[in-house]
Amino acid sequence: MTDALATPPAMLAQAKTRMRELAAAYAQAAPGRDAHSLMAGLPDVKLLFMPMGARDGAYDPEHHVIMINSSVRPERQRFTLAHEISHALLLRDDDLLSDLHDAFEGDRLEQVIETLCNTGAAAILIPADLMADMLERFGPTGRALGELSRRADVSASTALYTLAENTTAPVIYAVCAVTRAESDDGGPPAVGGPKELTVRASSAAPGVKYSLRPGTPIPTGHPVEMALDTRLHMTAESYVPFRSGRRMPAYVDAFPDRYRVMASFELRSDRTAQDTPAGGTPSADETDA
Ligand SMILES: [Zn+2]
Repeated sequence: MTDALATPPAMLAQAKTRMRELAAAYAQAAPGRDAHSLMAGLPDVKLLFMPMGARDGAYDPEHHVIMINSSVRPERQRFTLAHEISHALLLRDDDLLSDLHDAFEGDRLEQVIETLCNTGAAAILIPADLMADMLERFGPTGRALGELSRRADVSASTALYTLAENTTAPVIYAVCAVTRAESDDGGPPAVGGPKELTVRASSAAPGVKYSLRPGTPIPTGHPVEMALDTRLHMTAESYVPFRSGRRMPAYVDAFPDRYRVMASFELRSDRTAQDTPAGGTPSADETDA
Protein backbone atom coordinates (compact mmCIF):
# COMPACT_ATOMS: atom_id res chain seq x y z
CA MET A 1 0.00 0.00 0.00
CA THR A 2 1.19 3.51 -0.76
CA ASP A 3 1.67 5.79 2.18
CA ALA A 4 0.41 9.09 0.77
CA LEU A 5 2.60 10.99 3.21
CA ALA A 6 5.84 9.22 2.35
CA THR A 7 8.32 11.72 0.91
CA PRO A 8 10.46 10.58 -2.05
CA PRO A 9 13.62 10.04 0.09
CA ALA A 10 11.63 7.99 2.61
CA MET A 11 9.99 6.14 -0.26
CA LEU A 12 13.40 5.34 -1.75
CA ALA A 13 14.64 4.00 1.59
CA GLN A 14 11.53 1.82 1.92
CA ALA A 15 11.89 0.61 -1.65
CA LYS A 16 15.55 -0.31 -1.05
CA THR A 17 14.58 -2.33 2.00
CA ARG A 18 11.88 -4.13 0.01
CA MET A 19 14.29 -4.74 -2.89
CA ARG A 20 16.90 -6.17 -0.49
CA GLU A 21 14.29 -8.52 0.97
CA LEU A 22 13.14 -9.69 -2.47
CA ALA A 23 16.72 -10.20 -3.66
CA ALA A 24 17.91 -11.94 -0.50
CA ALA A 25 14.94 -14.33 -0.55
CA TYR A 26 15.57 -15.03 -4.24
CA ALA A 27 19.27 -15.77 -3.67
CA GLN A 28 18.56 -17.93 -0.65
CA ALA A 29 16.25 -20.14 -2.73
CA ALA A 30 18.86 -20.50 -5.51
CA PRO A 31 21.04 -23.63 -5.40
CA GLY A 32 24.20 -21.50 -5.70
CA ARG A 33 25.49 -18.11 -6.75
CA ASP A 34 26.96 -19.00 -10.14
CA ALA A 35 25.14 -17.80 -13.28
CA HIS A 36 23.30 -21.06 -13.90
CA SER A 37 22.14 -21.43 -10.29
CA LEU A 38 21.04 -17.81 -10.10
CA MET A 39 18.66 -18.36 -13.03
CA ALA A 40 16.87 -21.22 -11.24
CA GLY A 41 14.25 -18.87 -9.79
CA LEU A 42 13.28 -17.56 -13.23
CA PRO A 43 12.55 -20.82 -15.13
CA ASP A 44 10.69 -19.03 -17.94
CA VAL A 45 13.56 -16.61 -18.62
CA LYS A 46 16.34 -17.42 -21.07
CA LEU A 47 19.91 -16.28 -20.41
CA LEU A 48 21.97 -15.12 -23.37
CA PHE A 49 25.61 -14.03 -23.44
CA MET A 50 26.54 -11.83 -26.40
CA PRO A 51 28.74 -8.85 -27.29
CA MET A 52 26.67 -5.74 -26.46
CA GLY A 53 29.07 -2.86 -27.06
CA ALA A 54 28.91 -0.29 -24.26
CA ARG A 55 25.93 -1.94 -22.53
CA ASP A 56 26.46 -4.32 -19.66
CA GLY A 57 23.22 -6.19 -20.15
CA ALA A 58 19.46 -5.97 -20.47
CA TYR A 59 16.27 -7.65 -19.40
CA ASP A 60 13.52 -8.03 -22.00
CA PRO A 61 10.37 -8.93 -20.05
CA GLU A 62 8.27 -9.30 -23.20
CA HIS A 63 10.46 -12.02 -24.66
CA HIS A 64 11.61 -13.41 -21.30
CA VAL A 65 15.30 -12.93 -22.02
CA ILE A 66 18.20 -11.66 -19.94
CA MET A 67 21.15 -10.61 -22.10
CA ILE A 68 24.63 -10.19 -20.69
CA ASN A 69 27.54 -8.53 -22.47
CA SER A 70 30.01 -11.38 -22.96
CA SER A 71 32.93 -9.04 -23.71
CA VAL A 72 33.26 -7.59 -20.21
CA ARG A 73 35.18 -9.29 -17.40
CA PRO A 74 33.41 -12.19 -15.61
CA GLU A 75 33.04 -10.39 -12.27
CA ARG A 76 31.13 -7.64 -14.03
CA GLN A 77 28.99 -10.13 -15.98
CA ARG A 78 28.02 -11.70 -12.70
CA PHE A 79 27.01 -8.35 -11.19
CA THR A 80 25.05 -7.50 -14.32
CA LEU A 81 23.20 -10.81 -14.18
CA ALA A 82 22.20 -10.12 -10.57
CA HIS A 83 21.16 -6.59 -11.62
CA GLU A 84 18.96 -7.88 -14.47
CA ILE A 85 17.43 -10.52 -12.19
CA SER A 86 16.55 -7.64 -9.84
CA HIS A 87 14.72 -5.94 -12.73
CA ALA A 88 12.68 -9.12 -13.15
CA LEU A 89 11.96 -9.30 -9.39
CA LEU A 90 10.89 -5.66 -9.36
CA LEU A 91 8.54 -6.16 -12.30
CA ARG A 92 6.89 -9.07 -10.50
CA ASP A 93 6.19 -6.97 -7.38
CA ASP A 94 3.07 -4.96 -8.30
CA ASP A 95 2.90 -3.11 -4.97
CA LEU A 96 6.49 -1.92 -5.09
CA LEU A 97 6.20 -1.01 -8.75
CA SER A 98 3.04 1.08 -8.27
CA ASP A 99 4.55 2.80 -5.21
CA LEU A 100 7.55 3.79 -7.32
CA HIS A 101 5.38 5.06 -10.15
CA ASP A 102 3.38 7.13 -7.64
CA ALA A 103 6.47 8.68 -6.06
CA PHE A 104 8.72 9.25 -9.08
CA GLU A 105 8.40 9.99 -12.76
CA GLY A 106 10.40 10.33 -15.95
CA ASP A 107 14.19 10.19 -15.77
CA ARG A 108 14.12 10.20 -11.97
CA LEU A 109 11.98 7.05 -12.00
CA GLU A 110 14.44 5.35 -14.37
CA GLN A 111 17.33 6.43 -12.15
CA VAL A 112 15.61 5.13 -9.00
CA ILE A 113 14.89 1.78 -10.67
CA GLU A 114 18.57 1.42 -11.70
CA THR A 115 19.68 2.28 -8.15
CA LEU A 116 17.25 -0.29 -6.74
CA CYS A 117 18.48 -2.98 -9.12
CA ASN A 118 22.07 -2.31 -8.01
CA THR A 119 20.88 -2.64 -4.41
CA GLY A 120 19.19 -5.90 -5.39
CA ALA A 121 22.30 -7.16 -7.19
CA ALA A 122 24.46 -6.59 -4.10
CA ALA A 123 21.87 -8.35 -1.93
CA ILE A 124 21.86 -11.33 -4.32
CA LEU A 125 25.66 -11.60 -4.48
CA ILE A 126 26.57 -10.76 -0.89
CA PRO A 127 24.87 -13.14 1.55
CA ALA A 128 23.72 -11.37 4.74
CA ASP A 129 25.34 -14.02 6.94
CA LEU A 130 28.71 -13.53 5.19
CA MET A 131 28.43 -9.77 5.73
CA ALA A 132 27.62 -10.26 9.41
CA ASP A 133 30.47 -12.76 9.79
CA MET A 134 33.04 -10.39 8.23
CA LEU A 135 31.95 -7.50 10.48
CA GLU A 136 32.06 -9.72 13.53
CA ARG A 137 35.50 -11.14 12.76
CA PHE A 138 37.27 -8.08 11.44
CA GLY A 139 35.16 -5.15 12.65
CA PRO A 140 34.30 -2.23 10.34
CA THR A 141 37.74 -2.24 8.72
CA GLY A 142 39.60 -2.22 5.45
CA ARG A 143 40.36 -5.85 6.09
CA ALA A 144 36.62 -6.67 6.33
CA LEU A 145 36.18 -4.90 2.97
CA GLY A 146 38.95 -6.91 1.33
CA GLU A 147 37.76 -10.22 2.76
CA LEU A 148 34.13 -9.53 1.82
CA SER A 149 35.05 -8.64 -1.75
CA ARG A 150 37.15 -11.79 -2.13
CA ARG A 151 34.77 -14.25 -0.43
CA ALA A 152 31.59 -12.96 -2.11
CA ASP A 153 33.48 -12.73 -5.43
CA VAL A 154 32.24 -9.19 -6.07
CA SER A 155 34.14 -6.05 -7.04
CA ALA A 156 35.63 -3.95 -4.27
CA SER A 157 33.16 -1.16 -5.01
CA THR A 158 30.13 -3.47 -4.69
CA ALA A 159 31.48 -4.74 -1.37
CA LEU A 160 32.29 -1.15 -0.34
CA TYR A 161 28.74 0.23 -0.63
CA THR A 162 27.12 -2.79 0.99
CA LEU A 163 29.61 -2.86 3.87
CA ALA A 164 29.11 0.89 4.47
CA GLU A 165 25.33 0.46 4.55
CA ASN A 166 25.72 -2.24 7.20
CA THR A 167 28.20 -0.35 9.38
CA THR A 168 26.99 1.38 12.54
CA ALA A 169 30.33 2.91 13.66
CA PRO A 170 31.39 6.31 12.21
CA VAL A 171 33.54 4.84 9.43
CA ILE A 172 34.57 6.00 5.97
CA TYR A 173 35.70 3.16 3.67
CA ALA A 174 37.84 3.64 0.59
CA VAL A 175 39.38 1.59 -2.19
CA CYS A 176 42.72 3.19 -3.04
CA ALA A 177 44.90 2.41 -6.04
CA VAL A 178 47.73 3.80 -8.08
CA THR A 179 46.13 6.24 -10.51
CA ARG A 180 46.05 5.33 -14.18
CA ALA A 181 48.54 2.61 -13.53
CA GLU A 182 46.25 -0.26 -12.65
CA SER A 183 43.96 -2.25 -14.90
CA ASP A 184 40.33 -2.48 -13.80
CA ASP A 185 40.68 -5.96 -12.45
CA GLY A 186 43.56 -5.04 -10.17
CA GLY A 187 46.29 -6.11 -12.56
CA PRO A 188 49.87 -4.82 -12.37
CA PRO A 189 50.62 -1.13 -12.91
CA ALA A 190 51.84 -0.12 -16.35
CA VAL A 191 55.61 0.11 -16.55
CA GLY A 192 56.79 3.69 -16.34
CA GLY A 193 53.31 4.99 -15.57
CA PRO A 194 52.63 7.66 -12.97
CA LYS A 195 52.57 6.37 -9.43
CA GLU A 196 50.19 8.53 -7.47
CA LEU A 197 48.15 6.62 -4.95
CA THR A 198 44.59 7.97 -4.86
CA VAL A 199 41.09 7.13 -3.65
CA ARG A 200 39.22 5.18 -6.33
CA ALA A 201 35.88 4.79 -4.57
CA SER A 202 34.62 5.69 -1.14
CA SER A 203 31.50 5.25 0.92
CA ALA A 204 30.65 6.11 4.50
CA ALA A 205 28.40 4.55 7.10
CA PRO A 206 24.94 6.10 7.43
CA GLY A 207 25.09 9.34 9.43
CA VAL A 208 28.73 10.13 8.58
CA LYS A 209 28.76 13.53 6.90
CA TYR A 210 32.24 13.28 5.40
CA SER A 211 33.39 11.36 2.39
CA LEU A 212 36.52 11.03 0.32
CA ARG A 213 36.16 12.03 -3.29
CA PRO A 214 37.57 9.77 -5.99
CA GLY A 215 40.97 11.14 -7.00
CA THR A 216 41.90 12.33 -3.51
CA PRO A 217 45.66 11.68 -3.16
CA ILE A 218 47.04 9.60 -0.29
CA PRO A 219 50.04 11.45 1.20
CA THR A 220 53.46 9.84 1.52
CA GLY A 221 53.90 8.15 4.87
CA HIS A 222 50.17 7.62 5.44
CA PRO A 223 49.37 4.03 6.61
CA VAL A 224 47.44 3.42 3.35
CA GLU A 225 50.58 4.20 1.34
CA MET A 226 52.71 2.10 3.68
CA ALA A 227 50.33 -0.85 3.22
CA LEU A 228 50.75 -0.61 -0.55
CA ASP A 229 54.53 -0.30 -0.34
CA THR A 230 55.09 -3.10 2.15
CA ARG A 231 52.12 -5.33 1.19
CA LEU A 232 51.49 -5.56 4.92
CA HIS A 233 48.23 -5.00 6.77
CA MET A 234 48.61 -1.66 8.60
CA THR A 235 46.59 -0.33 11.51
CA ALA A 236 47.33 3.00 13.16
CA GLU A 237 45.94 6.09 14.82
CA SER A 238 46.30 8.39 11.84
CA TYR A 239 44.02 10.67 9.82
CA VAL A 240 41.61 11.05 6.92
CA PRO A 241 43.58 12.77 4.13
CA PHE A 242 40.97 15.17 2.77
CA ARG A 243 41.72 16.81 -0.53
CA SER A 244 41.62 20.23 1.08
CA GLY A 245 44.72 19.20 3.04
CA ARG A 246 42.84 18.94 6.31
CA ARG A 247 43.76 15.90 8.38
CA MET A 248 40.91 14.56 10.47
CA PRO A 249 42.00 12.18 13.23
CA ALA A 250 40.91 8.61 12.55
CA TYR A 251 41.81 5.03 13.31
CA VAL A 252 43.06 3.66 9.99
CA ASP A 253 42.98 0.03 8.89
CA ALA A 254 44.77 -0.45 5.56
CA PHE A 255 44.59 -3.88 3.94
CA PRO A 256 46.66 -4.45 0.79
CA ASP A 257 45.04 -6.39 -2.03
CA ARG A 258 47.30 -6.85 -5.02
CA TYR A 259 47.85 -3.34 -6.37
CA ARG A 260 45.15 -1.73 -4.29
CA VAL A 261 44.54 -0.97 -0.64
CA MET A 262 41.20 -1.45 1.10
CA ALA A 263 41.04 1.21 3.78
CA SER A 264 38.81 2.22 6.64
CA PHE A 265 38.92 5.47 8.60
CA GLU A 266 37.09 5.32 11.90
CA LEU A 267 36.35 8.88 12.96
CA ARG A 268 36.96 9.96 16.51
CA SER A 269 33.55 11.30 17.50
CA ASP A 270 34.93 13.28 20.45
CA ARG A 271 37.02 15.31 18.00
CA THR A 272 34.41 15.81 15.33
CA ALA A 273 33.15 19.09 16.77
CA GLN A 274 36.54 20.82 16.83
CA ASP A 275 37.31 19.59 13.34
CA THR A 276 34.14 20.98 11.86
CA PRO A 277 35.22 23.93 9.73
CA ALA A 278 34.19 27.47 10.66
CA GLY A 279 30.54 27.97 9.86
CA GLY A 280 29.68 24.53 11.14
CA THR A 281 29.35 22.83 7.79
CA PRO A 282 32.00 20.81 6.02
CA SER A 283 33.42 22.26 2.82
CA ALA A 284 32.17 20.95 -0.50
CA ASP A 285 35.37 19.01 -0.92
CA GLU A 286 34.53 16.76 1.97
CA THR A 287 30.82 16.11 1.59
CA ASP A 288 28.83 13.85 -0.60
CA ALA A 289 27.62 15.52 -3.78
ZN1 LIG B 1 19.17 -1.80 -15.20
